[in-house]
Amino acid sequence: MKSKEEVIEEMQKVAEQMRLDDIEENPDILDEYFVCDCCGKEQCLAGSIQYGNYRLCNDCVLLAEVGFELKKFDKIEDLIEKMEDKKLAEDCEYIKQEERKRNN
Ligand SMILES: [Zn+2]
Repeated sequence: MKSKEEVIEEMQKVAEQMRLDDIEENPDILDEYFVCDCCGKEQCLAGSIQYGNYRLCNDCVLLAEVGFELKKFDKIEDLIEKMEDKKLAEDCEYIKQEERKRNN
């Protein structure tokens, strides 16, 4: 049984290799961007992967692969949902801070 750290380290290498392979195949990819379905950020296409209906950026591919490997979830929808919560939490935090500023 691999430790969490080992899994993360291994997956980091895999994800980085995918990114490098994409760039080697098509160097122009570095100028190509898309909005990641998972983190919602505009990210480089290099190293991104299509999972079913979702395209994930290289950072999120790492999250997904580590999550699958550690059995945190077994389908990509679960990760997207988790990230939605996180995004929502960040949005709420931002709104709260803005309100605090206004009240001062
Ligand atoms: Zn992403």
